[in-house]
Amino acid sequence: MSKLLIIEDSIIMQKVIRHIADSELDCEIDLAGSLAETRTLIAENDYYLALADLNLPDAPQGEVVDILLESNITTIVLTATLDTERRQNMLDKGVLDYIFKENQESYLQAVKLANQILNNQKITVLLADNSPVLRQCCRGLLEKMLFNLIEVNDGKQALETFEQHPHIDLLITEYNLPEMNGIELIRQIRQTHSRDVFPIIGLSACNDLNLSAQFIKFGANDFLTAPFVQEEFQWRILRTMEQIRLISKITDSANRDFLTKLYNRRYFFTRAEQLYTLSQNNTEALCISLIDIDFFKAVNDNYGHDSGDAVLVQIAGLLKQHFSNFTVARYGGEEFIIILNSLAIEQCSALLENFRSIVEAYLFIIPDGELKATVSLGAAMLKPDESLEEVINTADTALYKAKEAGRNRLVFNHDS
Ligand code: GH3
Ligand code: MG
Ligand code: MG
Repeated sequence: MSKLLIIEDSIIMQKVIRHIADSELDCEIDLAGSLAETRTLIAENDYYLALADLNLPDAPQGEVVDILLESNITTIVLTATLDTERRQNMLDKGVLDYIFKENQESYLQAVKLANQILNNQKITVLLADNSPVLRQCCRGLLEKMLFNLIEVNDGKQALETFEQHPHIDLLITEYNLPEMNGIELIRQIRQTHSRDVFPIIGLSACNDLNLSAQFIKFGANDFLTAPFVQEEFQWRILRTMEQIRLISKITDSANRDFLTKLYNRRYFFTRAEQLYTLSQNNTEALCISLIDIDFFKAVNDNYGHDSGDAVLVQIAGLLKQHFSNFTVARYGGEEFIIILNSLAIEQCSALLENFRSIVEAYLFIIPDGELKATVSLGAAMLKPDESLEEVINTADTALYKAKEAGRNRLVFNHDS
């Protein structure tokens, strides 16, 4: 991601900003204290976004904003002067936002906004609009907000584009579209993508108040009635995207085990059912493996529960690394489960055996030093007409055999 340019002449405030940026920003920052410094930095770097103070020693009238806008840098103004006329003047010029510097909190707000705007570079927006004026206005604002943009003219094309591009993160659609209107488009998309996972913002150019209600009723996350001011457009989009991110964060944490951050047993079964159905439909192989740490009780007894936890976290890390293309979950206390899909038995066996030897060779870091540990693995390939429960039971029996046979080994129960 590109660097953020922050223009602020006060040395104390520069320090405050650097401190806030360190904890809040995903990217590096450059600081300029004057117009001259800004010019030099712009000449030497590619910036997409700047936070700019209007009152600089060599440019007291906000001249820096013109320089930034001329260089096509999205600009957020930070100023100590609360002047409505000037604010409007700046927004008319094309700055993205105008934040009043009240206290340190304002800097935090500005840096957070900057971070959100920079993150927009990873977000693709599908804009479905056939009215040239409104579309041009939306395009300008979306580009200023650094989104990637795909534009379409009609509803059918919007649906096709949505289905062909799995990386689209937001749809903004007008109501009056040829072929399929905006509400029908939303109804179609909502059959497969809920409001919690895919955001849609409805756009209406006319003064039909019922339309806004219809948009929300049929599944839009929000709506805008044109003409709108830039700030409303911007904040409705930012808030919608923020809500989706929050929901995704909450859902993800509900699906994960608190200690190891691997998927939990409940989520494992949701995922396993999907993979099971897929393998049945496509007659593809599916392998289940259960992995259990050997003599783990002794780790707790000899080194303490914290050391046991540390070993669990490190084993989980190794599992994530080694089986990054597969579904791995914490199945119980010191037991893990993996689904290896679309792999032949020889490949599954090699991967699992390799993992066993990695653990055997690994030095686990615990609060008081290091320790060694081993795992036993049971595995089974799904047989025709077998249920998911049955193949897991077979893998469990194999694990039991591995333990009985002396631990630190893989038993592949494919012929019993
Ligand atoms: P085996 O080789 O037969 O698997 O022996 P084991 O000692 O690993 O198996 P056992 O089932 O007797 O003990 C499992 C232990 O795992 C007991 C339990 O306290 C510990 N354990 C389970 N969950 C956690 C956890 O979250 N943290 C820690 N530190 N220990 C845990
Ligand atoms: Mg064990
Ligand atoms: Mg166990």
